[in-house]
Amino acid sequence: MKTVGVIGAGQLGQMLGAAADALGLKCIFLDPAENPPAASVGTVIQANFDDESALATLANTCDVITYEFENVPVHAVRAIESVCPVFPPPLALEQAQDRLVEKHLFESLDIPIPGYREINSADDLRQAATALGLPLVVKTRRFGYDGKGQLILRDVADIANLIDTLGGSDLIAEQFVSFDREVSAIGARNESGDIVTYALSENEHSDGILRVSRASAEGDQLQVVADAYLQRLLEKLEYVGVLALELFVTGDKLLANEFAPRVHNSGHWTIEGAETSQFENHLRAVAGLPLADTSIIGFPGMVNIIGSMPDDMSAIDAIVHDYGKTARPGRKLGHATIIGKSREDREKRLNDVQNSLSA
Ligand code: AMP
Repeated sequence: MKTVGVIGAGQLGQMLGAAADALGLKCIFLDPAENPPAASVGTVIQANFDDESALATLANTCDVITYEFENVPVHAVRAIESVCPVFPPPLALEQAQDRLVEKHLFESLDIPIPGYREINSADDLRQAATALGLPLVVKTRRFGYDGKGQLILRDVADIANLIDTLGGSDLIAEQFVSFDREVSAIGARNESGDIVTYALSENEHSDGILRVSRASAEGDQLQVVADAYLQRLLEKLEYVGVLALELFVTGDKLLANEFAPRVHNSGHWTIEGAETSQFENHLRAVAGLPLADTSIIGFPGMVNIIGSMPDDMSAIDAIVHDYGKTARPGRKLGHATIIGKSREDREKRLNDVQNSLSA
């Protein structure tokens, strides 16, 4: 039996662990948290992500190492690469961890992105406002997630405040995109270079957090373009595993926002709504197994359960995944998936689920 070491033991780790059994794989996790979500599906080594001795233990015990979040210290995984392969490759982590480096990567691959500037001072921000116009979305280059580490600049008079909050350097400013929709393209590549992609997910965010995702059997006319961008990224990074590319849709154009070198919240619908889930295909890719059928099943929809779990889960007419986390405002605690028979059926059922969750 092959053993997969997973850095991080949150809900993504939990869903990876749940998919491992059927493939005859075993997962061992590394996470500093006491009793994290993935403890329900495998052994957890409790240690910091850059704990050299814990990482060495993981590398010596496992056949391959992967990770479930993108802020894994790159130097730490590079240090164990000679003992045990790390997939996706640390290069992908490195590129995804710095928004400026990531933008250069997109540009080098002719993947369109919003206009942006590197910001290291209030002056840079003033110049960016003149060059790109307002509003601007100003983001820290590193360690941002779920909308954290970013602010919208609507007036140059607010520059000092913004710099106070985000710091004065290592920022980027992007044109604010009045997008029609947000989508994500999720795909997997294995070491032989085979690539599979999923139906585009259409994603609704509020306060920077994903709330609802939908994918459609009828497809999306932008699928071909998104798949081409995904393929360029996967090939350039000699990628192994699942990658999610988040995109803004404006008219018939796609602009890349960012990519995540891991399984992604917007792909949770694939557990019930695709022949093979993103979690299974990620494990297949990293463990050297053939990638499997990504065909969509019906009209999947997914709602994140944020802040508190409902008292009576049986009242929710959906497949509910409870990550077993302690409730906290803004925290992702679970998700609910429905498979609609049509777009209309999905909308009605998504609406019902959202009403039950807010009751
Ligand atoms: P991010 O952390 O970059 O994924 O941003 C979180 C969310 O903020 C995105 O999913 C969008 O809803 C919004 N957002 C980020 N960048 C922009 C932008 N340049 N223009 C408009 N909205 C944005």
